[in-house]
Amino acid sequence: MSHIFAHRLKGIPAPATIEMARCTRALKAKGCDVISLALGEPDFPTPPIAIEAAYTAARAGQTRYPPVEGIPLLKEAIMRKFARENQLHYSFDEVMVSNGGKQVIFNAFMATLNAGDEVVIPAPYWVSYPLIAQMFGAVPVFVPCREEDGFHLRAEALAEVLTPRTRWVVLNFPNNPTGAVCHAEELKAIAEVLSDYQDIWILSDEIYEYLVSDGKHSFSIASIAPDLKERTLTVNGVSKAYAMTGWRVGFAGGPAELISAMRCLQGNATSGVCSVAQAAAAAVLDGSRETVDHMVSVYNRRRKMVVEALRAIPALTCAMPEGAFYAYPGIAQCLGRTTPGGRVLKTDHDFAMALLEEAFVATVPGSAFGFSPHLRLSCATSEEALQEACRRIATFVDRLQ
Ligand code: GLU
Repeated sequence: MSHIFAHRLKGIPAPATIEMARCTRALKAKGCDVISLALGEPDFPTPPIAIEAAYTAARAGQTRYPPVEGIPLLKEAIMRKFARENQLHYSFDEVMVSNGGKQVIFNAFMATLNAGDEVVIPAPYWVSYPLIAQMFGAVPVFVPCREEDGFHLRAEALAEVLTPRTRWVVLNFPNNPTGAVCHAEELKAIAEVLSDYQDIWILSDEIYEYLVSDGKHSFSIASIAPDLKERTLTVNGVSKAYAMTGWRVGFAGGPAELISAMRCLQGNATSGVCSVAQAAAAAVLDGSRETVDHMVSVYNRRRKMVVEALRAIPALTCAMPEGAFYAYPGIAQCLGRTTPGGRVLKTDHDFAMALLEEAFVATVPGSAFGFSPHLRLSCATSEEALQEACRRIATFVDRLQ
């Protein structure tokens, strides 16, 4: 029997981030000494208060099905967080908890997109936005953010791509992969453009909110432009800020009608997020900012160190990111050259695969983020590993013929 799969999967690859992590694990299982800079995954331990809270919850018998949209304890902590840090006041039925930020976005797109709808995505972008949109028959429309603008989104560029078919506009600042952080004036100009389009939803993915370099501040569009709040979904989670990627707790604030549609979908798919993970997330959201501030200062130091090491490699270029924990070097001068292993590097994908298999450094090619030829390196790993990775990259590039 030939296997028959749904049309919605046609042409949809697994996300490159996850694929590179899979290749890395396979090489490591064979005994190769791979340095993994592929997944954006903090190397810090989860804060002890989260572990304690999970343990206490489990001991107290909080081991049954939780409500689909999140346990009240966590929803209230989320409401406090949004009010305290984003000046966004959501009511109880305007917040929801999902299995990571990814499921929030999946729910939101699935609840609202029909075939042929357009989802506007500034490029470079996180790999999953267009892939999720395409799964629901929508068409991703990219707005180029220029390197010379520090990859900030220009309101005029956004205005040019909006059409009556636009259903969503995705904003992700601090940006994965470039680290760009739009300032308040830029967001106001973007909001002005969007205010003319009443039927467009706005997805503001703020998962890297705290991870900004000194002097930078990240803003929520729904608080900068309160008239957009009723059609903005503000997405966040505990993965990046609190080094809790494995706990799978993402959340959103948005209009009650949209949240209710998302809850309906989630109730039919995965139900509520793991009960003890929710207790852990509530504890960190209400906890002190000290741990986060410490991690942010370490990421800022590492990112600077990696960018400087990459800039010292003559064939690479590298802008200094303003936030998140990635470096995004350009590798144009390496294309057309041949590796010691005999591969001709035609694309950044070729470069990333050769770097992985010949130099044992895992990265993600820029093609996955809609801006080539670049590589994305996660700096959320130890300084020793980052230094060694940069040495390996320098040697790899030096040996290209
Ligand atoms: N968001 C992270 C990244 O970009 C985790 C992997 C993923 O879900 O794509 O690496």
